[in-house]
Amino acid sequence: MIYHHIALNVPLGLLTYSYPQAIPAGTRVAVPFRGREAVGVVWETDVKPEIAPAKILPVKQVFGQEPPLPEDWRALLDFVSRYYLYPIGQAVFAALPQGMREARAVTLPQPPHFYGLSEEGRMQAPPPVRFSKQHALWQALAAGHQEEACLKAIHPQAGKLLQQWRQAGWLDESEAAAPQIAASQHLLNDGQQAAADTLQTGLSSFQTFLLYGITGSGKTEVYFDAMAKVLAQGRQVLFLLPEINLTPQLLKRVNERFGQVPTAVLHSQTAAGRRTQDYLRAMTGQAKLVIGTRLAVFTPLPDLALIVVDEEHDASFKQDNELRYHARDLAVWRGKQSACPVVLGSATPSLESWHKAQSGGYRLLELTQRARRAARPPQVEILDVRRQQLDNGFSQQALKLIQENHQNGGLTLVYLNRRGFAPALFCGDCGHIFGCPRCSAKMVLHQRVRQLRCHHCDFRQAIPRKCPDCGNQDLTAVGHGTQRVEETLKSFLPQATVVRVDRDSTARKNDWERLYRDIADNRIDVLVGTQMLAKGHDFARLNLVVVLNADGSLYSADFRAPEKLFAELMQVAGRAGRADAAGRVLIQTQLPEHPVFAAVQAQDYPAFAAHELAERKMFGMPPFGFQAAVRADAVAIGQAQDFLAGIKAEVENRLPPEVSLLGPVPMFMMRLAERERAQVFLESPSRKQLHRAAALWLYLLQGRRDAAVRWSIDVDPLEM
Ligand code: ADP
Ligand code: ZN
Repeated sequence: MIYHHIALNVPLGLLTYSYPQAIPAGTRVAVPFRGREAVGVVWETDVKPEIAPAKILPVKQVFGQEPPLPEDWRALLDFVSRYYLYPIGQAVFAALPQGMREARAVTLPQPPHFYGLSEEGRMQAPPPVRFSKQHALWQALAAGHQEEACLKAIHPQAGKLLQQWRQAGWLDESEAAAPQIAASQHLLNDGQQAAADTLQTGLSSFQTFLLYGITGSGKTEVYFDAMAKVLAQGRQVLFLLPEINLTPQLLKRVNERFGQVPTAVLHSQTAAGRRTQDYLRAMTGQAKLVIGTRLAVFTPLPDLALIVVDEEHDASFKQDNELRYHARDLAVWRGKQSACPVVLGSATPSLESWHKAQSGGYRLLELTQRARRAARPPQVEILDVRRQQLDNGFSQQALKLIQENHQNGGLTLVYLNRRGFAPALFCGDCGHIFGCPRCSAKMVLHQRVRQLRCHHCDFRQAIPRKCPDCGNQDLTAVGHGTQRVEETLKSFLPQATVVRVDRDSTARKNDWERLYRDIADNRIDVLVGTQMLAKGHDFARLNLVVVLNADGSLYSADFRAPEKLFAELMQVAGRAGRADAAGRVLIQTQLPEHPVFAAVQAQDYPAFAAHELAERKMFGMPPFGFQAAVRADAVAIGQAQDFLAGIKAEVENRLPPEVSLLGPVPMFMMRLAERERAQVFLESPSRKQLHRAAALWLYLLQGRRDAAVRWSIDVDPLEM
């Protein structure tokens, strides 16, 4: 018998199983586990068993026809498990798509077929132009060899036509083709060219670049330039973006440039079967370009030659449950592992990355001009609304600007900072506020579906008809949700077309496309929206942005709040005046003297970063110190705090040097989904010592099973 260490989706280490032959590491297998069948991934082969061989169960089935998960992928997961102090098996399964978490063989993707016109085909007349799709299909075949999937994107009936044309002898077929990459529509400007040249010199080894470029400076073209070079060599590119940036606009740009490159798009909304296939296409080297959100960082890529992380500062790269990894940090790790460059791009880099670029760890590339010559940076005005009588959240100045802009034919964006603006229900008689029964959060009013919803745990209930405390039937809505703002604008500007953009109004697939078309066709005058509209969109006509309540988050205890707010305001301000007209931005605030507003007004990220970093340095906060949070939750906060305090007492006199413990304290959002949450913060100027301390906590936590308490460790936490 040969013994194997196998990773299973359980909160334990590797488990030992036997098999008559050696199974290559990385192979998926089915094994018995606690009376049921479980999937595993062979981690080590031919190991010495640490338990009595008679007790070791045999592997039931080996999925040997699938290529094993490669060695570098396993090394990545080993690192993830060690770094994030998370059980190896669970880390492995978090990194696999659904299809590979099931105990049955997966269907392997067929190698793509490429078609082009044959000699004989070239002598035929193309289908008439009036059959526009057939014509386009023919043109594509004439331009060079194309993957069948790309051809189907041009004409849904491509399969049938290809068969006909092949039978007629008009087509050439092959299994591999060097992808043809369309030339850029733009000539790179001097700044872009300089950045692209520097990147090119770094394409053959590991180096992390921070591409810092103001919004609209053409970062995407710089990424594309480097990607084009790598893809033309037939090698693989990993392109990570925040969920919200996977817009049809971005995918359209990718398609225009890399339409002929076999591409896999991986994000949480991809259907499970599709995701498994795309994962395997990447793993077998068939897909050359992998675009995706944070989870795509786990895609096995045998020939990885470039990693791009767009909007690298975005908090959605960090997963905040289960395996609490940061995809940007893992991207850099993978670059090092694969000896390939990593490009992090942002208009407002995370202070961690900026600090590394300033101190020489990363190479800084800067784009200081907007790419379109005529586009000028917007003019930003900070409006103190402390002593103002607001009309449903609007100052007189804001309404006047919107009206004037409408009269001049401009497009306005009214932006709401979600935190300060969720509409709530409130009893005007006794002051009762409708909170979530499960969380320490107010319920949010959703007028259209007549519901109150908790945005933290998704608890829902019908809008109550009367106050549960005093019976008053006249309940008032407070706060200004997008819906109320929309209504206010509609009655203020009855002739204007006001459109609200939020999760509800963009839930369906074609909603965005229709919105873009309507905007392009001048059918919209005012857009009302939240974060969804701040990022990644390029509305050429937009020339006025009004931010209604900018300061909600500044009241919080989160030391990253100013950084986040700065990024958000710069993003949204960057929406204005992208095309030919200079834009205007009006920001209403109750805290006008906060330094973040002066920085936004001057649009000076480096000054803002210098100020924030000086402050962080003084307090030993990241990136000058490192943190981990140990969290516990229970039905009552006391239980959670006692649990942590008990371990803290054990840890305290064994603590490595230079590590301090803070807490246990209740979390900022103490109640979540009927559980109350507390945490202890571990801080240290030394990452190594911090890890030793966190590992000690882990060891003690594992030894102390308390059914009433759940716990977790968050390394490099973003949540307070
Ligand atoms: P960023 O990603 O930095 O916000 P984008 O790459 O989206 O900027 O570019 C902003 C706009 O400028 C886009 O509409 C893009 O097509 C255009 N653009 C980019 N580079 C150039 C260039 N060299 N010449 C003209 N237009 C450009
Ligand atoms: Zn809730």
